[in-house]
Amino acid sequence: MSKTKRIVILGAGESGTSAALLAKWLGYAVFVSDSSPIKPAFKTELEEQDIPYEEGQHSLDKILDAREIIKSPGIPEKAAVLQAVRAKGVPVIGEIEFAWRHKPASTQVVAITGSNGKTTTTGLIYHLLQTAGLNVAVGGNIGKAFARVVLDDLRSGNTGVRLLTNPKWYVLEISSFQLEDIDRFRPKIAVLLNITPDHLDRYEYKIENYARAKFRINKNQKRGDIFLFNGADPVIAGYRSRHTLAPARPVAVRKSAYKNAVIRIGRRHHFAMEATRLRGPHNFFNTDCAIRVALALGAQPADIQRGLNTFLPPAHRLEVLASVNGVTYINDSKATNVDAVYYALQAMEHPTIWIVGGQDKGNDYAPLLALVRKKVKAIVCLGLDNSKIIAAFSKMKKPFVETRSAAEAVQEATALAVPGDTVLLSPACASFDLFKNYEDRGEQFKASVLNIIQSPLQTITN
Ligand code: ADP
Repeated sequence: MSKTKRIVILGAGESGTSAALLAKWLGYAVFVSDSSPIKPAFKTELEEQDIPYEEGQHSLDKILDAREIIKSPGIPEKAAVLQAVRAKGVPVIGEIEFAWRHKPASTQVVAITGSNGKTTTTGLIYHLLQTAGLNVAVGGNIGKAFARVVLDDLRSGNTGVRLLTNPKWYVLEISSFQLEDIDRFRPKIAVLLNITPDHLDRYEYKIENYARAKFRINKNQKRGDIFLFNGADPVIAGYRSRHTLAPARPVAVRKSAYKNAVIRIGRRHHFAMEATRLRGPHNFFNTDCAIRVALALGAQPADIQRGLNTFLPPAHRLEVLASVNGVTYINDSKATNVDAVYYALQAMEHPTIWIVGGQDKGNDYAPLLALVRKKVKAIVCLGLDNSKIIAAFSKMKKPFVETRSAAEAVQEATALAVPGDTVLLSPACASFDLFKNYEDRGEQFKASVLNIIQSPLQTITN
């Protein structure tokens, strides 16, 4: 048997560690190598399973004799270790591909990708399917890695019954980096939400390269599978017109027809959004996609509506925190690119004090100008280098302040606000100049909002 085949795993985050645990469980000889320190929790897991590892270095002598290498999505093609691996000709796959090859035969995959909205839509699809009573698990680029989801099911035997009649569904958020390293991965339903400039540094600053990576979600799909995509996205439309896609049934979802907080699908179905916690036109679109997936998998409309009404959106995405003295505070720390901010501003219904800034990712602020003119009454920068934001917006002659901590930003924004206003943290930038990550930025913002509450907290529930 090929079971003693030696597999080397590059990178020991959630993805790499999960791949290592699955490989070990399957009987492979496994070695893990990470050029950075490995988090203690992952080390413990590797040690418990007697999986040898190294950290802070890549020892080529221990890596290049592998029969197959599983690489973490964070490792770019230009990394020295990967170039050495390519030169030697050792096959390289990603963790998603590895998990796909070893998943139980009675399971199927729904995969969600896009520049924005992946986590929200993945979580919502999972929740709708669960509410409808389907056997379902969630993971991928959020929460548990796909390999860990598969391992848990192999261990517990919860793997669905029969593929055609009663499968188990894996709902997976998949990033473009992860899609680069798939080979046979074939989602029964693939969802492509949008393609807008993000991570272009990894794609030679060419949107075509980024689009190619995203479209790989469809590459192995067959007749009978479904490819659901944003029918109003110009990059998606352009790519589709230039390339022949795999023969799944294409379903174009358009953002146009959401009137009176109702989502209509075909002639028969309509779903009310009033009782949901999903706000803004972009979330109507995400929800439209999620409902179509649930309907395609046989969920009953009444169950879907129940699921919509009980879904709790993930934190840091247009998260309404509190109303203090008539001012509403919203945490959208996850808006790390211009497009996400575009949708956040579009969703604002009151004069907005906008907290923006952080580590620039090559942002072009031009698409925001009209919205900022219309919706924003003051700008509070939260970042070390605010020069691009100053260049883009200072001409508008709106109040403009620079700050260097969440507490200072909240203080300044509060001073600028009057009852009826909204304070929105929607940074358009990465967080690493002043914070550990976007969650840390969001948590510090929340803590600062709590701090300014003198009168009793009035939590907003809608
Ligand atoms: P991802 O997992 O793709 O980063 P999230 O669901 O975490 O997506 O949302 C990231 C940011 O994008 C949030 O600020 C959110 O409000 C915004 N967003 C969510 N859905 C969309 C969409 N369909 N189009 C544009 N922006 C969106």
